[in-house]
Amino acid sequence: MTGPYDTDVIIIGAGLAGLTAAIEIKRRGAACIVLEARDRVGGRMYSTVADGVVIDYGAQWVSSAQPRIMSLLQQFHIPTTPTYTDGKTFYELLGRRKAARSGAHPLPLPSLFDFYRMQKRLEQLSGQIDNCAPWSTKQASSLDARTVQSWLETSMFTRYGKALFRVIAEEGLCGDLSEFSMLDLAWSLSCSGSFKGLFSAEEFWMLGGSQTLPQQMAATLGDSVKLNERVRTITWQEDAVTVFTDQEKWVGRKVILAMPPAFTARIHYEPALPFLRDQFTQRVGQGAALKFILVYDKPFWRNNGWNGKAYLDRGPVTTTLDSTTPGQTRGVLSAIATGTNARSLGLRKPQERHAEVLRSVARAFGTEALQPAAVHEWDWLSDPWARGGYSAHLAPGVLTQFGPALLQPIGPLHWAGTETATEWRMYMEGAVQSGLRAAEEVLLSFRE
Ligand SMILES: Cc1cc2nc3c(=O)[nH]c(=O)nc-3n(C[C@H](O)[C@H](O)[C@H](O)COP(=O)(O)OP(=O)(O)OC[C@H]3O[C@@H](n4cnc5c(N)ncnc54)[C@H](O)[C@@H]3O)c2cc1C
Repeated sequence: MTGPYDTDVIIIGAGLAGLTAAIEIKRRGAACIVLEARDRVGGRMYSTVADGVVIDYGAQWVSSAQPRIMSLLQQFHIPTTPTYTDGKTFYELLGRRKAARSGAHPLPLPSLFDFYRMQKRLEQLSGQIDNCAPWSTKQASSLDARTVQSWLETSMFTRYGKALFRVIAEEGLCGDLSEFSMLDLAWSLSCSGSFKGLFSAEEFWMLGGSQTLPQQMAATLGDSVKLNERVRTITWQEDAVTVFTDQEKWVGRKVILAMPPAFTARIHYEPALPFLRDQFTQRVGQGAALKFILVYDKPFWRNNGWNGKAYLDRGPVTTTLDSTTPGQTRGVLSAIATGTNARSLGLRKPQERHAEVLRSVARAFGTEALQPAAVHEWDWLSDPWARGGYSAHLAPGVLTQFGPALLQPIGPLHWAGTETATEWRMYMEGAVQSGLRAAEEVLLSFRE
């Protein structure tokens, strides 16, 4: 088929990856439309304002080590604020409660040594990973044969060292260590520059809420962004695609699917995709995270010398962070549960769930935590277009057996979304990088 086409590129998904790809494609002179299943843009970036308080239900923090998202924030004049770090961080590990200044870990000396030794080892491991093809790394097979959990058991020797690693890594990866391959972890670390990079990307947040960025991006695209358009079927051949939603059909030269791999598998393809791609998407989960935004009359923890950050290995909330807007009287804490904790909280009734969450936070900052003015939450596990957490992670065997299927275009079908990023995979930065990469692939193919 050589046309007529409705547009050059059909982008599916109006999250950060899809919107980035659309802006880049238009900037370089090609035409595109963006089809989004939800009634809003932003995907996993979802925020609102309730009673004057900014509520970031999903993505929130960025870091100065993430150049693309930082530059987008500048370009769209999105103001940020540094995360509050004055005061002590709370740690509850194996029932032992300790405080430490920001960035220091209050472990017994042998455990601290064990933790930093492990960190160094991970830095060495991740230094050997090829970000664009982790499956081709020299040690790929042996790393991909183990879970992070089994690696931890044999690589660390102290109980407190292991407990700290677990609570930090399970929050950062948004799942249990038994779910992920060691190659997947090494790849994530390598994509994010370092262990410290991966687990300390919470430097700033967007004052008006993170969704303001995709909203402003979509505004520049005007009516090229079509909401409430769930893509059901794609028929494709080498030089054309037809995309069907419940209402409409569009014909284009290329498609960019800017969504988690698991969601690409919910679309019907004619002809069917090659079996490797299908087998790959049968194996990719989306992690599990619940995020609670707790609003208090004032940031009471600050008065008691706490910076609002807590690690609680007993859960169900395992991490908290101060999200109070500077200059506002109300205090705001973000509280996060991941993996098994998130799934078991997700099964509880809202009132029971909130009580559990508040009890966790009270263990860190005292009984004042039990009296919030409001509790907000978003159930990302039940969200029909997220069904999980921050992002996908891969179980043993998946990267080495099916890794190339993650990124390789199939005819006119190209893949984007933070899961496909080779820098800052999982993060907003990764979504932007993946959108730019997919746009480049498509635009290059037009020149051939
Ligand atoms: C609780 C939580 C906290 C997070 N915290 C942070 C953080 O602090 N910092 C950070 O950098 N990142 C964070 N993230 C991760 C960040 O949100 C993601 O990396 C990023 O937003 C992913 O963007 P994306 O465009 O790749 O995918 P998405 O945002 O998921 O966009 C994909 C879009 O595709 C749409 N779609 C799917 N299937 C179809 C279909 N068939 N037809 C049409 N449309 C479809 C979906 O509705 C969705 O809008 C967090 C995520 C969560 C859930």
